[in-house]
Amino acid sequence: MTVRHNWRLQEAQALFDKPFMDLLFEAQQVHRQYHNPNEVQVSTLLSIKTGACPEDCKYCPQSARYNTGVQRERLLEIQKVLEAAKAAKASGSTRFCMGAAWRNPKKGDMPYLQQLVREVKGMGMETCMTLGMLSKDQADSLAEAGLDYYNHNVDTSSDFYEEVITTRTYQDRLDTLENVREAGMKVCSGGIIGLGESAENRAKMLTELANLPTHPQSVPINRLVKCEGTPYQANEEVDDFDFIRVIAVARIMMPQSMVRLSAGRESMNEQMQALCFMAGANSIFYGCKLLTTPNPEESSDQKLFRKLNISPAKSAYQYDEETTSDMELSLGLNERAASKPKKKISDIPIAVYRP
Ligand code: SF4
Repeated sequence: MTVRHNWRLQEAQALFDKPFMDLLFEAQQVHRQYHNPNEVQVSTLLSIKTGACPEDCKYCPQSARYNTGVQRERLLEIQKVLEAAKAAKASGSTRFCMGAAWRNPKKGDMPYLQQLVREVKGMGMETCMTLGMLSKDQADSLAEAGLDYYNHNVDTSSDFYEEVITTRTYQDRLDTLENVREAGMKVCSGGIIGLGESAENRAKMLTELANLPTHPQSVPINRLVKCEGTPYQANEEVDDFDFIRVIAVARIMMPQSMVRLSAGRESMNEQMQALCFMAGANSIFYGCKLLTTPNPEESSDQKLFRKLNISPAKSAYQYDEETTSDMELSLGLNERAASKPKKKISDIPIAVYRP
């Protein structure tokens, strides 16, 4: 499979229409061309500013427009973020993502954000942020601080977008992605399944992502977590096999990207997650909570990795010599790590995300 940027909607639809086993087989073949099939990259996501977002994304409990019980929280102190990053690293995460519920960062936020990037990166982790829309200058200053990835999901297809969000346009999304790309950072952009979109909308969203000037290096595929108080609290459940199909088609159309099994993983049993890995997912969020929605407990992820003989992928940066991840130790996958004394970090408070 070559890397293409000229996908037609009909081709994407034809992939979705394949018999399930044929699709899974093709996706796994493509996956093996570009990735280690027994390795999954692990990221941790921390909410550095929760709630009171002025945007109206109909799926989001952090929008100030819906009565969801999520309380507004101030920006987390730098020290608290660093403690959470340290704990995440010790738990096996190689990438630390920091999210703020903003329409866009303000000028005065930039020095704080730059310092976070420098400090987390200095710990030997890859850094990612998701802060809403970015101007060209803001993207440049985050890149200058060393930010590796910027997450900005397209959420759904361009023709369904205004059903989901009215406070910004699909083009606004694309403009931010362009600013991120131009600044030299890696793009993390994917979507959410379960918003009420049609099969055609799903195929179109993947076509639009795959036809960007470069494929997003990371493509999160989220399953809607239905949050009480949001307009989508009673949406129809997404069929498990339909969800797996989205992963498989994303893998085939963007063969080099990391396809991330993202929000909604808590509702998936082990067998479904294994099928998602088979379909080409090779990245997960690991941690107690994903922003404000539940995420499987660390220990259950470790158990699943052990059952499937999956290794957590290494960071682009070397682990430092002092810290060994709990996941490496518990899986017994790293002999050198297992022979080293484990650094005690139990006194580090892990950040608590609001439900
Ligand atoms: S998804 Fe992001 S931009 Fe939309 S309401 Fe939630 S926090 Fe705000």
